[in-house]
Amino acid sequence: MWQLLILILVILLVYTTARIKRDSKTKLDSPNTEMVKCNACDLHLPASEAIENDDGWFCSEEQKCQNL
Ligand SMILES: [Zn+2]
Repeated sequence: MWQLLILILVILLVYTTARIKRDSKTKLDSPNTEMVKCNACDLHLPASEAIENDDGWFCSEEQKCQNL
């Protein structure tokens, strides 16, 4: 009987550990966390919020930098 309890505990532990690892890996691999630098004001911001054009990355549309 004790062996069955220990087996269930081990399965639960492995399942929980695997789920925590998968969650943290998903966050780290997210492409939205990539940081880019605005060519006009040197502001660092996530690529998902930046605009990329022929001249590089900018923090606002059409090179109208919001921090100048
Ligand atoms: Zn800028």
